[in-house]
Amino acid sequence: QEIQIPTLMALLKNDAEALSKGHHKFQFHIESSHNLMGEEREIISACGNLVSNAIRYSPDTASISATWNVNKQGEGEFSVTDTGPGISSEHLSRLTERFYRVDRSRSRDTGGTGLGLAIVKHIASRHQGQLTIESTLGKGSTFKILFPRERVVSEKSKDA
Ligand code: ATP
Ligand code: MG
Repeated sequence: QEIQIPTLMALLKNDAEALSKGHHKFQFHIESSHNLMGEEREIISACGNLVSNAIRYSPDTASISATWNVNKQGEGEFSVTDTGPGISSEHLSRLTERFYRVDRSRSRDTGGTGLGLAIVKHIASRHQGQLTIESTLGKGSTFKILFPRERVVSEKSKDA
């Protein structure tokens, strides 16, 4: 179905604020008014996973931004950037494996199972999309779901 991006972003923002208890600095941007065709519950869950990871693995003072954009190739991009601890390249390549967690002892109290990103990757591929991760240790990370242009709903003409 057609997913209304403003609705999706509002929902994600609400959940994010509830989860962080008001400590993180959030910026939610909608840079394109194009909507997305997809399985709404799956998209909400995939995007929500990226936002909740950013909250969970970043300190209280970190800023977290979530953006919807359509790039020059016409592909849809949902991305989440945090100013958290970042992930070293040895871990980066294994991050989407099921049950893989970077630092078990440090991650233990955050109570995850290590399934989140495997599910995000699965949902992305079910939409012919891709999950990409860029991260710099000590600086932060960007997680992006790229959707093919066929799934981007072209803007309706105003007088149609
Ligand atoms: P689950 O999502 O199943 O509750 P999880 O969060 O541990 O558990 P994933 O979402 O797959 O599982 O993430 C895997 C690991 O990647 C995490 O345990 C964490 O170590 C690391 N990670 C994920 N997102 C970030 C991030 N934004 N910054 C730093 N590390 C991250
Ligand atoms: Mg997770």
